[in-house]
This record gives sequence, structure tokens and C-alpha cells, in this order.
Amino acid sequence: MHPEHKILSVSPKHYLYLTEAGQLVLRGMSRKKADEVMAAYKQVLPLSNEWLECFWCEACNSATWWHIQRHDKLEFTILPVSREIWENASGVIRVEGNPTVSQFSRRSARATGVTGMRQYRFI
Ligand SMILES: [Zn+2]
Repeated sequence: MHPEHKILSVSPKHYLYLTEAGQLVLRGMSRKKADEVMAAYKQVLPLSNEWLECFWCEACNSATWWHIQRHDKLEFTILPVSREIWENASGVIRVEGNPTVSQFSRRSARATGVTGMRQYRFI
């Protein structure tokens, strides 16, 4: 919203995972292949190129969560976090209050990280 301002990351990357073959079909995979992949991963497929990350905007004086998709080293897509993605991530990430826009001071964001989050990594 303010392209003249840099945004600062104020959270770890919380990588997304898929739990339904239909989510792979939406990403362009055939239904048969998607079923095989989900079975191979015991129905929980971690994604290495999609995550949720919270960024601080100095102009807005607020932090906002975004859904990041990495296509290669230089190219990313930044999307608003959809309801489906929040529900998908809810077993991993707990966000207190309104998950789409959480506001807190930059100082506290830096001091404590993002309130209500716990770290999670796929092994
Ligand atoms: Zn802004």
C-alpha cells in the first residue's frame, strides 16, 4: 500500500502445509497424482515455497500477515491471507485477536516477536 516505504519482517516464516489432495489439484496437479502424493506424505504435505510472514509498515504503523509464494530466487508473489489458508495454518499458528491485521508497537514487535505465535518447523 506504501511502495515508497520498505516493509520489515517481524515474524519467522511459517511454512504452510497441505492436508487435502484438492489443494494440490488447485495448484495444477492431476487428481490421481495428488492422491498419490498425499498418501505418500500421510496426508500432511509440507510446502517449501509458501509461507505466512508478518511485515511491519512504517507508514501505516502496523503489522500485517501475508501469504508469500516463492517462484524462484528473485520472484515472489505476496497475497492477502485467505480464510482457507488461515484455517489450514490454524493447527500450527495461533494468532490472538484479528488475524488479518494485528497492531502493536514496533518496539514491542521487535522485543517480543509476534504475540501469540509459537514457532513451528517441519523436520
Ligand atoms: Zn503501509
